[in-house]
Amino acid sequence: MQTFNTPYERAMSFVVSAMDRITLLDSEKDMLRQPQNIVQKEISFKKDDGSEQKLHAYRVQHNNARGPYKGGIRFHPAADLEEVKALATLMSIKTAVVGIPFGGGKGGVTVDPKKLSKGELERMSRAYITALKDAIGPQKDIPAPDVNTTAQIMAWMRDEYEKQTGTFAPGVITGKPLAYGGSVGRDGATAKGAFFVLKELLDIEALPLRDLKVAVQGFGNAGAEIAMLLHNAGATIVALSDSQGGIYSKEGLDPIRIKKYKDKTGAVHGEYCTGSVCDIEKLKMDQTETLTNEQLLECECDVLIPSALDNVITAENAKKIKAKIIVEIANGPVSPEADEILSKKGVIIIPDVLANAGGVTVSYFEWVQGLSGDQWTAEKVDHDLERIILKAFNDVRHEAKRKGLTLREASFNVALQRIVDAMRVRGWGNH
Ligand code: NAD
Repeated sequence: MQTFNTPYERAMSFVVSAMDRITLLDSEKDMLRQPQNIVQKEISFKKDDGSEQKLHAYRVQHNNARGPYKGGIRFHPAADLEEVKALATLMSIKTAVVGIPFGGGKGGVTVDPKKLSKGELERMSRAYITALKDAIGPQKDIPAPDVNTTAQIMAWMRDEYEKQTGTFAPGVITGKPLAYGGSVGRDGATAKGAFFVLKELLDIEALPLRDLKVAVQGFGNAGAEIAMLLHNAGATIVALSDSQGGIYSKEGLDPIRIKKYKDKTGAVHGEYCTGSVCDIEKLKMDQTETLTNEQLLECECDVLIPSALDNVITAENAKKIKAKIIVEIANGPVSPEADEILSKKGVIIIPDVLANAGGVTVSYFEWVQGLSGDQWTAEKVDHDLERIILKAFNDVRHEAKRKGLTLREASFNVALQRIVDAMRVRGWGNH
């Protein structure tokens, strides 16, 4: 079995196999294999002690055939060009799967933001925009939050962009606070999108949600929200975890109480919450036992929802996974090798490019509201999100059924075909 070592190799393996399933010209394949633009800068900002810190910053613009580049900015010590390229490519696929008029891009800074004070974090965020302001713009490339970047950081970035360009630009960035051009419903959008798709799949498979045992890895924005939505809908949440480890209860955990507890006890250092779901054990609020993040993936459950890191299900542990359905809220949690093993076992995987596309869909609503000056209600956001994500799921499901593909293969087929259709009518790559 072929192995893929970097995030870029893993993402591209899905893209390349889809390119072989649909009919493409070599010139079109070449265009899709490489990002259209890579912007690499050294950014610098003042530390609290007066010294200057220099960091590597990236913006990768993969494809804009269907609309402006769209994708988050990640602050992480492991963020590098390879990772940002992979994520930008997956954003082109994601926006095309849900059929919103964007291409794919991604940004990153190689930094551990948790080691910065709030002032340093703000100065670094503004320095990113100073370095990249010519590459982005409301009709060009629209960033958003990603790992370790928050609504507050988006506000600093929009403010800096507007100062430097002398424009009013609510459409330059999404994931902003409500007070400064954000959209209602953005916070819970990723989980809600995944919830709508999972519910539809369960209806089709005639699996009652109330009978399901669910394990969620990662109790952050998206993981906590999906756990609460499924709990409210009657599913049994048997396992939850965060970076400190996990908890398990055969009888079921109450994610709403756990979230309240975590919010109350989690010390907030600047922008980041450091409380852990594991602390709940000390209070004996539920009949729980602890388990590691690795054990959580292999626990007795029907639905497994990785909502933390990439590449957590690999050839090493794929055979031990007991879930019948995997919902990929994290980006790239299942390696290509594991994907093959699990698909052969009959595990249904709702792939990241579909399962977590609710976030970018509501980002699109935020962008539309920014450009039009309109403000949508929560009901309109939810209604339009459900309509768009279920249409995407049904397009993917029909492609999978017609061609005997997995949902991941079908998602990449549908997305690449849409991107290539746009490239062709624009006259790209055909000479
Ligand atoms: P977050 O930072 O709010 O939460 C991440 C969670 O993962 C935290 O609970 C953290 O403790 C936990 N975690 C960190 N390291 C871990 C480890 N080694 N093992 C287990 N858990 C660990 O992030 P989020 O916004 O909820 O995003 C989670 C994932 O979903 C990421 O992969 C992100 O790229 C993806 N995603 C999020 C959105 C969104 O809108 N939030 C959209 C698309 C994709």
